[in-house]
Amino acid sequence: MAPILGCVADDFTGATDLANNLVRGGMRTVQLIGVPGADTEVPDVDAVVIALKSRTNPPPEAVAMSVAALDWLKAAGCQRFLFKYCSTFDSTDAGNIGPVADALLDRLGADFTIACPAFPETGRTIFKGHLFVGDQLLSDTHMRHHPLTPMTDSNLVAVLGRQTARRVGLIQHRDIQGGVDAIRARVENLRGDGYGYAILDAVDDDQLHTAGEALADLALITGGSGIAIGLPEAYRRRGMLAAAPGADGVPRVTGRAAVVAGSCSAATLGQIAEWEKTHPSFNIDPLKLADGADVVGEALAFARARIADGPVLIYASAPPETVKAIQDRLGRAEAGEMVEGAVARIAKALVEEDGVRRLVVAGGETSGAVVSALGVTGLHIGAQIDPGVPGTVTLGTAEPLALALKSGNFGAPDFFEKALRQMA
Ligand code: ADP
Repeated sequence: MAPILGCVADDFTGATDLANNLVRGGMRTVQLIGVPGADTEVPDVDAVVIALKSRTNPPPEAVAMSVAALDWLKAAGCQRFLFKYCSTFDSTDAGNIGPVADALLDRLGADFTIACPAFPETGRTIFKGHLFVGDQLLSDTHMRHHPLTPMTDSNLVAVLGRQTARRVGLIQHRDIQGGVDAIRARVENLRGDGYGYAILDAVDDDQLHTAGEALADLALITGGSGIAIGLPEAYRRRGMLAAAPGADGVPRVTGRAAVVAGSCSAATLGQIAEWEKTHPSFNIDPLKLADGADVVGEALAFARARIADGPVLIYASAPPETVKAIQDRLGRAEAGEMVEGAVARIAKALVEEDGVRRLVVAGGETSGAVVSALGVTGLHIGAQIDPGVPGTVTLGTAEPLALALKSGNFGAPDFFEKALRQMA
């Protein structure tokens, strides 16, 4: 059976977050990394999420990648499509949300879609077209100062309006309270009046479930990962999706285990401290790396002396003042790339030479570097470990690996141990 839903996500961890929500709704889901080649086998699942890295590329590049991903998903037999972006609507007046959504609509021959980054579970709500993060308007949060996509306007009708030539309308709170028929009637009115988009208000999960039912027949939906929560149920009601349980079942992987961390976020630092109470760990010093010392070799020797007895942690993570001192010496981007490269080489060696088959990686960029070094082309998405982070099993590697890829601030203090237990 061909997949039902084909998704194009504009970044890697966002793709996993979306896949996690689809699995929780009962859709068997695979995440593919980058636009798959024409000869890539279509997995036997209900949803495929293609993870791009297109959020901050020049718009023509983001459009070309997204259309290529859509074409692959169409050829794979998907019937519905979803364009996933950040729940803080990360974009500039040049794009990429508007230009990519425009191109996908054109490619599908569709004239209307919605835009809804709401994800109430993580505090992202939309009321009268305005995006809130927790109790604050988006433009009053740290997103105002984001280095690449500063969000200084919370009115999404206006924000998207500056990114597209199509008219942007609003499906309000009160339309959603009116239920499925009221939402559909509003869509028909907007369409009749020549609107190509509507921002969709949503302040809680019930509203996303109602919206999912009302909008599941649109060729294209756009939004954050929250917009996916009402879709599996809607497909089930339409007879498109079987009620089969166990969407989060992934192949069992056994073998040695390790944790590598490059995230310097507060949650990760807490998880490292928790781990160190009972397990061995090795700290990578970026200044020694920069001096040309064989830190990778030292880390591997440390791991090799212990890994037969149980999992080890190798980390570069450090508190903000240390990171700042290192960045002042080496440069921010240079330090980041050097550390990512070292962590990725260590992970690759542990897998290829030391029998590690279960690996936890902390850090969004760090995960990208590790996955690419391991030659992973896709991830079978399993059960959630902590909110937003599922266990996964790799596609494309010589042997399947169990991976938990955790972006910075996710996970409880005992995440590393919990993840390894779940992946056993
Ligand atoms: P997060 O998901 O927490 O943002 P990322 O992996 O995306 O984590 O980003 C962390 C960045 O910090 C990576 O580029 C990593 O290489 C870099 N890094 C890790 N440790 C250090 C350190 N001690 N000093 C400087 N940079 C570091």
